[in-house]
Amino acid sequence: MNDCIFCKIAAGEIPCDEVYGDAEFLAFRDLNPQAPTHVLVIPRRHVSALTDLTEADTVMAGGLQVVAAKVAAQLGLAESGYRFVINCGDDGCQTVPHLHLHLLGGRALGWPPG
Ligand code: 5GP
Ligand code: ZN
Repeated sequence: MNDCIFCKIAAGEIPCDEVYGDAEFLAFRDLNPQAPTHVLVIPRRHVSALTDLTEADTVMAGGLQVVAAKVAAQLGLAESGYRFVINCGDDGCQTVPHLHLHLLGGRALGWPPG
């Protein structure tokens, strides 16, 4: 995906504040944080949205959450708690069409979401 901003971040073409990276996933701080800790975890491979997942993505989708939980622990959130959010489509308020998991923590989060 030539014009995908998160593909460019994954490729190192656009800088990011990286907190974790491996061959398959990258985690970096959100530019516009909504909580004291707000990290985005992405697969390096381009997948547009949850709606594009197939059974072939089962391991990747699970790995995304395992990596995000590891990052949460690394950032000291395991005891206080945190939230994962994956926005999808217009009603879900997805603005970047490359699958990403928001890791939010560092304050008590409201529920339900507005
Ligand atoms: P969405 O609304 O698609 O679920 O979330 C997209 C997120 O990406 C937003 O929270 C936005 O602040 C963040 N974002 C957009 N562009 C960039 C960027 O270039 N760098 C970083 N670090 N975050 C970005
Ligand atoms: Zn992409």
